[in-house]
Amino acid sequence: MSSQIRVRFAPSPTGLFHVGSARTALFNWLYARNTGGVFVLRIEDTDHERNTPEALEALIKGMRWLGLDWDEGPEAGGDYGPYFQSERTSIYDEYIEKLKASGRTYEKDGALYFKLEGERYTEFDSHLGREVEKVKSAPQVIDDMIRGRVERAEERDFVIVRSSGEPVFHLVNVVDDLTMGITHVIRGEDHLSNTSKHCELFRALGEEPPKFAHIPLILKYSGKGKMSKRDEGALVEQYIEQHYVPDAVRNYLGLLGWSPKNDQEIFTGDEMIREFSFAGVSQSNAKFDHDKLTHMNAEYLRAMPAEQFVEMAKPLFSKDGDALKDLSYFSDVIRLVQPKANRLTEVEGLVGYFFGNEYPTDAKVADRLAKKGDPKEKASAVLDVFEESEDWNAEELDSTCEALATKSGGKKFDYFPVLRFAVSGVGGGPDLMPMLEVMGKKRVTNRLKAFIES
Ligand code: GLU
Repeated sequence: MSSQIRVRFAPSPTGLFHVGSARTALFNWLYARNTGGVFVLRIEDTDHERNTPEALEALIKGMRWLGLDWDEGPEAGGDYGPYFQSERTSIYDEYIEKLKASGRTYEKDGALYFKLEGERYTEFDSHLGREVEKVKSAPQVIDDMIRGRVERAEERDFVIVRSSGEPVFHLVNVVDDLTMGITHVIRGEDHLSNTSKHCELFRALGEEPPKFAHIPLILKYSGKGKMSKRDEGALVEQYIEQHYVPDAVRNYLGLLGWSPKNDQEIFTGDEMIREFSFAGVSQSNAKFDHDKLTHMNAEYLRAMPAEQFVEMAKPLFSKDGDALKDLSYFSDVIRLVQPKANRLTEVEGLVGYFFGNEYPTDAKVADRLAKKGDPKEKASAVLDVFEESEDWNAEELDSTCEALATKSGGKKFDYFPVLRFAVSGVGGGPDLMPMLEVMGKKRVTNRLKAFIES
C-alpha cells in the first residue's frame, strides 16, 4: 500500500446541501490538498426512503460552485468504485460473510447483530424499561486529531443488518472506508459517538481503523443549539441563487472552527490549503454568523478586478432591458457601484437611474432639499456652467462647481445634494463627480433641464 493520504466526504443525499456538510467537505478537501492526498466523494445513499435526486444534484452543484473538486467519485470515476453505496451491495455481502465466518455475529428477530467480546451481564435499562444484556467490552481508544485521546466502550451488541436485509450505516460506512483505503476520517462531531462501533468493526475485520478527526459543530448565531436547515443562510443553494462570490463563502466556511496561527481572515483557496492543519481546528463549537459571511462577500466584491465584477453583474440584468444596450456605458456604471454593493444582487437596485429616463424620485429627499433654498435655482446655476464645460471629466466638473460656489460666496457642497437629486432622484449613491463623468454631458444637462422645468 502506498502511504498516500486518502480522505472522503460521505454525504447522505437526503436534503439540500447544508453549510455544515459543506464545511466538512471543505476540511476534507483542504487536508487532501495540503498533504498531496486524494479526496474521495462517496454518496451514502442507502436510505432509499429519504434520498432524492434533487439532493444529489444540489450537492454536486454546490461542491463544484465552492471549487471543492474531488479526485474520485461520481463523474470523476476512480479505482475504488462504485462510489454510490446503493451500488455496493455485493461488497457489503462479502464483508457480512467475513464477519459471520469469524464468529462475531448472531441472528435475533431476523436481524444480524455484531457480537462484542467481553463478560456479559444483565442490567435494568430505565430508557427501555426492561432488563437488557450488556457486555464489559474493552474500550476502543480513538486518537482523534482534534479531540485527542477518546476512550469509549460499547456496552451492547448492535445490529449490522436489519431484518429487511438492509445493512446499517455503521457497517457500510466501515466497509467503504476499509475497501476504499481511507486513511483519515474527517467528519462532524455528531459522529464521535459512532466511532467506537466503527473501531470494533474494523478490528473484527482484522484491520486497524483509520485516523479520525471529529470537527466541532456549527451552532446558530444565538449559540442556542445546532444550526438547522431552517436557519438563515443554512443552505449553499441560497448563496448560489443570491450570486454570492463562491470564494468568499468558502473562505467564511473555512473559518468556522479553524483559524490560522496569525489573525489572517481573508484567504485565497491556495493560501488556505497551505495554512490548514488540524492543530488549528478548535475543540469548541463555531457560531454561524450570516452577517459576517455577507460582510466577507462584500470585501471580495470590492477587491475583485473591475472587469470581473462587471462580468459577474451582467447575468443579473435582463437581456432586452435598457442596461445592456450600450455595454461600454454599462461597464462604466457597474464599476462606479462596485464599492457600494454587499451582494451582487444589490447592483441592479443601485444603478436603475443610470439607464433610461424614467426613474422614481424620493419625495423625502425633495422635501429636505426644499428647506435649504430653492433647488431649481441651484440646478439652473449648475446647468449654466456645465453647458459651458468643455472637458467633461470628474476633476473638471469639480473645479467648475468650486468656481461657481466661490462666485456666489458659498461652498460647492451647497450644490451637490441638489445636483445628485436632479440627475438621479435619490439622496445617495456613488461619488458624485465620477458619476457625472460616466453619465455624460448630454444626459446630465438634459436631466438638469427636466428638473428645472418640472
Ligand atoms: N453519511 C454520513 C453523514 O452524512 C457520513 C458520516 C461519515 O462521514 O462517516 O453524516
